[in-house]
Amino acid sequence: MNQAVARLEKYEGIDPEVWSETYLTEPQGLKDQQWFTNQVVRFDVDPELWSAEGFLSTLQAVEGQMDRVRDVKNGPRIIDLDIILFGDRVIDSGAYLTVPHPRAMERAFVLIPMADIDPAAMFPDGTTVAEALKKIDYRLEGNKIYQD
Ligand code: AMP
Repeated sequence: MNQAVARLEKYEGIDPEVWSETYLTEPQGLKDQQWFTNQVVRFDVDPELWSAEGFLSTLQAVEGQMDRVRDVKNGPRIIDLDIILFGDRVIDSGAYLTVPHPRAMERAFVLIPMADIDPAAMFPDGTTVAEALKKIDYRLEGNKIYQD
């Protein structure tokens, strides 16, 4: 994940600002694999240089640079870079890009690291990260996140 951020930082107009802690997450779906590591990073993205779609294509380019192979759904992967929020924008570019990330508000492994950065951060519908966390069932033990 540090390598992905370092690669992104090399692009003009993409500047990492705040990092969450890293968390270990029990795999959902395919249980017979290593735990995932999750982190949320807030970037300052220059709107003069980057659309949300352009930023996503750069995330995908970095996944490719890191030899991300798309094979088993929900299976192991070296890196997976997603856009959770893009300012206060609501985006639906067909299947290519949906913002906020459609499952963000249900996933403890997204909301817990977001709360490290800013629990008062708001989804476009006005729900804060702290409020979204109260609505889901999860268990946090140290840096391990359990959620069914
Ligand atoms: P994955 O990398 O397996 O999470 O899936 C990536 C796919 O989801 C790509 O085809 C993207 O075009 C699409 N996608 C839709 N919305 C988003 C988003 N907010 N962040 C990242 N990928 C997205």
